[in-house]
Amino acid sequence: MTEHAQEFDVVVVGAGAVGENVADRAGRTGLRVALVEHALVGGECSYWACMPSKALLRPGAVLAAARAVAGAGVSGAVDVAATFATRDDVAHHWDDGSQVDWAQGAGITVLRGHARLTAPRELAIDGSGGPARVTARHAVVIATGSEPVMPSIEGLAEVEPWTSREATSAQLVPARLAVLGGGVVGVEMATAFADLGSDVTLVVRGDRVLAPAEPFASQAVADGLRALGVTVLFGTQTRSARRDDDGVHLSLDGAPDLVVDEVLVATGRRPRTSDLGLETVGLAAGKAVAVDDRLQATDVDGGWLFAVGDVSGRTATTHQGKYDARVVGDVIAARFGAKAGAKDAEHGGLSAADEAAATPWSRYRATADEASVPQVVFTRPEVAWVGLTEQAARDRGLQVRVVGYDIANVAGAYVLAPGYAGRAQMLVDETRAVIVGATFVGPDVAELLHAATIAVVGQVPLDRLWHAVPSYPTVSEVWLRLLESAGL
Ligand SMILES: Cc1cc2nc3c(=O)[nH]c(=O)nc-3n(C[C@H](O)[C@H](O)[C@H](O)COP(=O)(O)OP(=O)(O)OC[C@H]3O[C@@H](n4cnc5c(N)ncnc54)[C@H](O)[C@@H]3O)c2cc1C
Repeated sequence: MTEHAQEFDVVVVGAGAVGENVADRAGRTGLRVALVEHALVGGECSYWACMPSKALLRPGAVLAAARAVAGAGVSGAVDVAATFATRDDVAHHWDDGSQVDWAQGAGITVLRGHARLTAPRELAIDGSGGPARVTARHAVVIATGSEPVMPSIEGLAEVEPWTSREATSAQLVPARLAVLGGGVVGVEMATAFADLGSDVTLVVRGDRVLAPAEPFASQAVADGLRALGVTVLFGTQTRSARRDDDGVHLSLDGAPDLVVDEVLVATGRRPRTSDLGLETVGLAAGKAVAVDDRLQATDVDGGWLFAVGDVSGRTATTHQGKYDARVVGDVIAARFGAKAGAKDAEHGGLSAADEAAATPWSRYRATADEASVPQVVFTRPEVAWVGLTEQAARDRGLQVRVVGYDIANVAGAYVLAPGYAGRAQMLVDETRAVIVGATFVGPDVAELLHAATIAVVGQVPLDRLWHAVPSYPTVSEVWLRLLESAGL
């Protein structure tokens, strides 16, 4: 084999948070792993998504929390320059040196370049310095993430709208900003730029923001945005866009036309698979790679191809993608790693991982993707939910009881801020007396979520949960109130 063609046990394409985790996990049993990346090691989350967006949101949240406590004596507004400087630090100034060092320290070979499949277990790498071709002895893992969808609106491309990348890495605050789309990215960025001083208009096609959330959460976020000065337009479509010296003119259906300085398009994302050579192994370019609960591609024979993270269309958050990454890393390590031979013999040709994957909640099966996905939205108020919404539970034919509680009535909430406003809701599966979903709305509720996730994943019966005593005076006492409201 020449220096321009190399063989590894496992090749992971895409070094976002998800690909990094697969590589780390699979490599722990001594497999030789290559991680191919054509941009920055660390991916979207580190440089243009989770981390910089939260850095932009944090100052406004801290100020609001301090202002809610009279004794803190805080006034003033967000310091734009300091916020951007912190955001730049959080995004490592868009330099991936430390993440490359980490990967190499973990024994992973980092290859710079664009990877395309050319045949089963074979890839061409279009890069500089490394091998031009790589072969995977055992497995290829696609972890190439997702990219923003640009809606086909007349003139939109020509006005060069922002995507989440330009918003999270912005160095200037537009005086007037239109945000198209009321999903997580839309409402978070509307909040951040309102804090930074933009006059923000949020343009939403449907009749609420955060469509997958409980309706009361959507309502609270829309109210919160309006309280921040954001104009929220529901039932509004953008017909066309045009830029001139006055700014960008948006022609809207359902609302008067708008003139702004920048437009942020936040209307959804699609799997990044258009230039990946998927067609060479019989898959469609531009679509998600369909996978089973082991994250193994279902439409490719031979058990060598896996897909994980946003590209699978199965998860859309870093934490859930990393969970799937741990599953696929463990499946690969168990099937092909140092101890795999012995396990294969014990299990009549199937690896232990494949046998175990048949059982829900095995570590080789991503059961939580179905049952208990957590989501936090860092707006004001924050929204956090896990598992099913009421509608989703009823659609699945579950007999659920909705138990709600006004968090303001909890002593801990009053201590946090006398004017605290928030709501908690749990969904009880009446047949099994366990929680199948929970939603929290209010300041700092993000940190309440994991208790709910544990209850849902653990399928903890309510009469056992009753013995989990929350400390006084904390907001967690809402758990006690919810259980009392459920009749305990
Ligand atoms: C504004 C915003 C805020 C968000 N906030 C949060 C949050 O707070 N919490 C959360 O959990 N999630 C958040 N998300 C979602 C989160 O960013 C994604 O779910 C996560 O980044 C997906 O990780 P990934 O590894 O699958 O993909 P990515 O992070 O996109 O990584 C894929 C990598 O593959 C590389 N690549 C692609 N194709 C090739 C190729 N052919 N060859 C070589 N390399 C290639 C890319 O350059 C990239 O580095 C947010 C998203 C956005 C847009």
